[in-house]
Amino acid sequence: MHTLCPALLLSILPCTVPSALAEEVSVSSPDGKLTVVLTDADTTPTYSVTYEGHTVITPSPLGIHTDLHQLYTDMSLTGTKTATVTDDYTLNRCKTSSVHYEANQLLATFTNTNAPAPAPSTGSRRPNGPRSNSGAFTIEFQVSNNNIAFRYIIPEERDRRCAVVKSEATSFTFPESTTTFLTPQSHAMIGWKRSKPSYEEEYKADAPLGAASGYGHGYTFPCLFKVNGSTGQQVNKKKGKQAAPATDNIWVLISETGVDSHFCGSRLDEPTPEGRYTIAYPMMEENNGFGSTGAQVTLPCLTPWRTITVGGLDAITETTIAFDVVRPLYEPSIPYRFGRSTWSWMVWDDASINEKDLKAFIDLSSEMGWEYTLIDAWWDNNLGQEKMEQLIRYARSKGVEVFLWYNSSGSWNDTNQSPVDCMSDPISRKRAMKWMQSQGVKGIKVDFWGGDKQETMRLYEQVLCDANEYGIMCIFHGCTLPRGWERMYPNYVGSEAVLASENLKFSQHADDMEAFNACLHPFIRNTVGCMEFGGSALNKHYNRDNQHGTTRRTGDGFQLATAVLFQNPIQNFALTPNNLTDAPADAIRFMKEVPTTWDETRYLGGYPGKNAILARRHGNTWYVAAINADATPLSFDFDFSSLNIKGNTAECFSDDKTLAFSASQLKANKKGIIRLTIPQNGGTVLKIED
Ligand code: CA
Repeated sequence: MHTLCPALLLSILPCTVPSALAEEVSVSSPDGKLTVVLTDADTTPTYSVTYEGHTVITPSPLGIHTDLHQLYTDMSLTGTKTATVTDDYTLNRCKTSSVHYEANQLLATFTNTNAPAPAPSTGSRRPNGPRSNSGAFTIEFQVSNNNIAFRYIIPEERDRRCAVVKSEATSFTFPESTTTFLTPQSHAMIGWKRSKPSYEEEYKADAPLGAASGYGHGYTFPCLFKVNGSTGQQVNKKKGKQAAPATDNIWVLISETGVDSHFCGSRLDEPTPEGRYTIAYPMMEENNGFGSTGAQVTLPCLTPWRTITVGGLDAITETTIAFDVVRPLYEPSIPYRFGRSTWSWMVWDDASINEKDLKAFIDLSSEMGWEYTLIDAWWDNNLGQEKMEQLIRYARSKGVEVFLWYNSSGSWNDTNQSPVDCMSDPISRKRAMKWMQSQGVKGIKVDFWGGDKQETMRLYEQVLCDANEYGIMCIFHGCTLPRGWERMYPNYVGSEAVLASENLKFSQHADDMEAFNACLHPFIRNTVGCMEFGGSALNKHYNRDNQHGTTRRTGDGFQLATAVLFQNPIQNFALTPNNLTDAPADAIRFMKEVPTTWDETRYLGGYPGKNAILARRHGNTWYVAAINADATPLSFDFDFSSLNIKGNTAECFSDDKTLAFSASQLKANKKGIIRLTIPQNGGTVLKIED
């Protein structure tokens, strides 16, 4: 079996005789390359990780602290059990559509050696009796090729059926020469109308191990590390797919998955100077100080999974571990359909939330053959219910379905964009959703969430679960990272949780950094979850007149490439009505046809922050997308055989060295190769029918 049923926990909890000597147990991936070693040396539960014999995580403590016990030291490994786990499943909104998961499972129990001997059971409930009889936890590891997932199982103890999980010793310690690719956690209650933290901070690439984050609150998931790394560009010139990583170039991605209403989200705390990163729970100040920082759990408790992806950048980019170890939590009430959307607010701003402009964007969706339009904040105030109902009917008469923006609430921050206070309680939420269902509204974009506390995770789940009852899909903005939600919640679409497209109009700095940031996301943020970025603009300026405002530094080919590189099942693209006449016709044609869901994703080359080359397949069509942030032009030989493509021609959408855009038909040379050269801030997409 795969997911542990709490009722079966007692039967699987291992039991062997404790030993005075340090115990050690290991578990390896099916291919034998990735190994976790667990010990109770120095009475501390400790694990380490090797990949192809090279240490990638040095001995790192494990342990959990509840209101019953602090199980960090004086622990003894008292039992183990192993099994294999397999699962074949499908995904309909991610980087791949069909997954075969295979892992070796290790269950290891650590018991507190200093705890008093268990009192004899009287068989009666003793609410005021001794708090515990032993103090133990089991840790479950699943090790698949290139991935480790682990979680704690906190057992029921005598008459205790609930607990509060306060903190963890869980940590990740890296070898000395490791460099980091991390984004900090911000202070709480700062930023726009005191709406942070919202996973909208800048990354530092190739930063030193153990560096302070700046805010003092550590780093948000996912966290990328390069162990023993060279900083050289990593472009595969031979086979399109990178070979097994050289020993100087092993990448490690840390994240978590399976966080729902039963736990809080976590992050990595400020590291020690030696490079040890320990799990941290939410800050008390989040959610305006309301709600706890830990988790309130029923015993026995299964914590969320912490995940470690190890290997080359192919393993990092292609990982499905966020989905492998979670399960759908309810059935979809209707078949949800994904696609492309216009979004007036992105370039035309608040002023576009009026009947005339919104109709112009509905007409743009219709012209593009796109499925949706997103109507952003203030629609209730600016149009009112009756005009909105007319507008929704207009959209649907043109074959365009509607997403509506909602404020998550005003009670944990000072945001006042309306509609407000419609999603935070079940009475107003169900009233709003019933109205949406009656009008045929297909989805909501809910903005300005309160952080990572369990209190907030409960609200996410309540909104998702209620929305499903009314056939409504959910996009989240100003929010946390999704943690396996693409598989857990059938009406979940995607989350922002990134410095997204809006920043391109807010500040020129974001435009100057656009290529650098875009070359990070395919290797970090977007590897573990859908990313609602809202990009692919064809305006030269982020302004309605396309003359003023911030200036786009990247080419049109770059913008097309990010439509492929950035993955979200509904893409709210930043096109504007004028682009039908002022943008290159071939770019518009590409945007009409580009899909948003993928059957397969392959890493072909690139290096975080410098360049990115991915191939994604939708049906029989491959899209090879490449962008370059580096001052040195990126040279890349695309080999048709690397993707087992029979043909030898591709349609190429590309920026030249002056960033002028054009489309052309290209044919492979005698060796089956197309050579691409991509300038700084440029991009290329090869579209290949297989
Ligand atoms: Ca935002």
